[in-house]
Amino acid sequence: MGELNINHLTKVFGDDDGEIVAVDDLDIAIEDGEFLVLVGPSGCGKSTTLRCVAGLESVTSGNIILDDESVTNRKPKDRNMAMVFQNYALYPHMTAQENMGFGLKMTTNLSKAEINQRVEDTAKMMGISELLDDRPGNLSGGQQQRVALGRAIVREPEVFLMDEPLSNLDAKLRTQMRTELQELQQHLDVTTIYVTHDQTEAMTMGDRIAVLNRGELQQIGTPLECYHQPNNRFVAGFIGSPSMNFLAMRWTGQTLEHTTFEYHLSEQTMQQVRDMGVEQVTLGIRPEDIQPEANDPNAITITVNVTEPLGDMTYVYFDIGDTACTASVPGDLSISEGDRLSVTFPQDRIHIFDGNTGKVITNRTFRPTDKANQSVNT
Ligand code: ATP
Repeated sequence: MGELNINHLTKVFGDDDGEIVAVDDLDIAIEDGEFLVLVGPSGCGKSTTLRCVAGLESVTSGNIILDDESVTNRKPKDRNMAMVFQNYALYPHMTAQENMGFGLKMTTNLSKAEINQRVEDTAKMMGISELLDDRPGNLSGGQQQRVALGRAIVREPEVFLMDEPLSNLDAKLRTQMRTELQELQQHLDVTTIYVTHDQTEAMTMGDRIAVLNRGELQQIGTPLECYHQPNNRFVAGFIGSPSMNFLAMRWTGQTLEHTTFEYHLSEQTMQQVRDMGVEQVTLGIRPEDIQPEANDPNAITITVNVTEPLGDMTYVYFDIGDTACTASVPGDLSISEGDRLSVTFPQDRIHIFDGNTGKVITNRTFRPTDKANQSVNT
């Protein structure tokens, strides 16, 4: 079992200059075996949350519950959790084998032979048996991180806590290790909290992702839920690359008015905006949802500033008024700098946010289950 509940967790750091609320009343329930990614910009409280769960940091208030038992006041070694750090934290004077077995030696009554057996079995499963006699100084970054992961795995914990474990690796190795780590986690089926500031890692690795900003939980959901159905403008802007385009608009009571164009809403969306009783709104549209199209009443003409061909797709950069926008179009469309194009933001792809609070008023249509069933049935 490894069902973890973070209940009303608050962590305040204080000194003579004042207080910093690093984590603010955080509530997250993580299922046994789930891979949860904590993601957010630098300073949003990810590491502090993880350190509170690990017991490396005391909580100001709130509780950490593992399988219905509070571990809030337990020492880190008594929580049955294993942490993996960004900088590997291996002992330089010990071999990989000694590093991997060290935790077991210090916290269990296992004999030396039993520890060696566990280390060798884990190393075999991870494909790092040939590294066991090497010291960290003789290992590459990727090998060191595998040893650090192995050290966590041999302890057979109920929960893995990983703090940006792939950040020190180069881009290619990071992508490879991302897949390895996911496969390993699925194979071991151990509850995992994985901290990263990288939204691509969050999107590709997590069963669910929890998006934090300024110590507060903004949204928790599957990667696709957070991508297509963001709770607010912050999540909409943080998840996805290139980022969602945002246009400041005024609700006239009939249409959305930008300084350079008007956008006509469907009757249903108009009602949603009316119900919110706001005047200033933000229209959001993802780059891939902007369609080259002239025959739509909402079509606008734009002038291409720059294009970035990537092969399968091309990023097209343009301005709408003062706002820099990006569209991503199929790579075989012939578009060049200076071209004038008609584009539209389809009704079922737009997001509308409250212009003041950033809270979502309406999201784009998103029905993943329907689509999956359709493709199976056809
Ligand atoms: P990063 O990705 O940069 O590590 P993070 O999201 O993990 O950021 P935290 O390290 O949890 O953020 O920090 C959250 C806030 O708490 C920041 O404002 C940070 O400066 C502050 N903070 C963290 N640790 C301490 C500490 N020991 N003493 C005082 N303030 C701290």
